[in-house]
Amino acid sequence: MSAPLIPLVPAVEAFLAQPHKGMHIDGRSVPAHSGRTLPVCNPADGQVIAHVPDADAEDIDMAVSAARRAFESRNWRLMRPTDRERALLRLADLIEAHGDELAQLETLNQGKPLSFSQAADVGATAQYVRYMAGWATKIEGATRDVSTGTPDGQQFMAFTRREPVGVVAAITPWNFSIMMPMWKIAPALACGCTIVLKPAEQTPLTMLRMAELILEAGFPPGAVNVVTGYGETAGAALVRHPSVDKISFTGSTAVGKAIGRQALDNMTRLSLELGGKNPMIVLGDADLNAITFPLVMAAFANQGQICAAGSRLYVHNSQFDALVAAMSAAAATLRVGPGLSPDTMIGPVVSQAHQRHILRYIDETLAAGGQAVLGGDAPDRPGYFVNPTILVNTRSDMPVVREEVFGPVLVAMPFDDLDAVIAEANNTPYGLTASIWTNNLKQALDAIPRLKAGTVYVNSHSLVDPNMPFGGFKQSGFGREHGREMIDAYTETKAVFIAY
Ligand code: NAP
Ligand code: MG
Repeated sequence: MSAPLIPLVPAVEAFLAQPHKGMHIDGRSVPAHSGRTLPVCNPADGQVIAHVPDADAEDIDMAVSAARRAFESRNWRLMRPTDRERALLRLADLIEAHGDELAQLETLNQGKPLSFSQAADVGATAQYVRYMAGWATKIEGATRDVSTGTPDGQQFMAFTRREPVGVVAAITPWNFSIMMPMWKIAPALACGCTIVLKPAEQTPLTMLRMAELILEAGFPPGAVNVVTGYGETAGAALVRHPSVDKISFTGSTAVGKAIGRQALDNMTRLSLELGGKNPMIVLGDADLNAITFPLVMAAFANQGQICAAGSRLYVHNSQFDALVAAMSAAAATLRVGPGLSPDTMIGPVVSQAHQRHILRYIDETLAAGGQAVLGGDAPDRPGYFVNPTILVNTRSDMPVVREEVFGPVLVAMPFDDLDAVIAEANNTPYGLTASIWTNNLKQALDAIPRLKAGTVYVNSHSLVDPNMPFGGFKQSGFGREHGREMIDAYTETKAVFIAY
């Protein structure tokens, strides 16, 4: 049994008391022009907790037009970098001031433990917005000495400018329903862009509240628009809209490829943060006591629904049995339950469809000779739970080893030879993150350039920092978020020649 649920704060009670929400276009809360809505569930019990507008191409056109008008407006052009910085700093304060409300909404809608919503979707997001606020005043070009000139002595002074790319279409998944959108909205605003966001159909609630806070922080109507709806309709209409200058997408590789093909038609700028099937390699010298719990959390935090999560564990044969036993024992102590219960460490997965998708991978693996040393099933309770699962006796051609499950499912495999295991770690279409666990500096340094992943960790996994570029090699996407690299994503470079 889980402990009693934490009571909802009055702001969340009030939010849920208006069952039909509006979406945010041009600073106003509006229904879909069709009047259609889509239901939003609490994955901890399967109950519908709200309805949001089911937008289509016409609504998207209104939102993109609002973002375009805001971008071209004199007021926006005159909003100085310090004004955008100040508004972003205010927004970070507002996120913290409304932290309990936002964290509870995130947990109610997405499922993760409340403490994790507070740490990631509130705490880390506020920190991220502050970091991006700092960049608003530090975007710069360069003066260049050029060789161009004319015989009569005319010379050129030349410089580059970084200009906002324009209207950004942001499309995000459901695993962090505040953090993922704000990873796009904050840098886009810092660079002077305006935005239309389509959050995931499963988790639209928090960004509807955030849209109000963004206005309160001082960004003008139309600067950030939040349009709710399905990917196939609202998302697709946003991607093909000719007035969108830049698409920033986070989600699955399959949808990312479809969006990429569509973007090319309009030459829309594009960055893609896609899936991962991330290896964690434990060498023979690793200190099992020190690494057991970090490995467990790398696999199971947020029910494994983290693109950067470790989902393939390769352990040197000399430590394999001991580590798998220690991790199974540690993971077995993680309390599975509703995210609003204070002792929960593993909440529900996001939806019934996703629960079935995860359980199907497990069942197929067991039927093909794999073995669950931990979990392998769903607890007998309402809601969309999956017990943390560690699978052994798998083969490298099994779907559970090759494909992204995006759930609390770890496959553990022994190895003898480091070269062979690095080749195996790289034997995937993905390349988001990878980790190596050892105290042998030489072996760690040797492995770093050989692991084909956008982020490589030594003795940790899944860490993300606002000042470090984040993104994928191979089919995990292209472009980088965070750090100074985000300027490439949200600006165009203009070359200027001045004759004298
Ligand atoms: P998804 O199915 O690709 O959906 C992501 C977003 O795209 C949703 O808003 C979705 O709308 C929308 N969408 C779907 N089809 C579309 C279309 N044809 N045109 C435009 N938009 C469309 O991914 P998901 O299942 O929500 O999220 C899990 C995936 O995200 C995993 O692969 C995970 O690895 C990846 N992810 C990557 C990162 C990263 O930074 N690299 C971070 C987090 C998650 P609907 O909600 O209506 O389907
Ligand atoms: Mg979908």
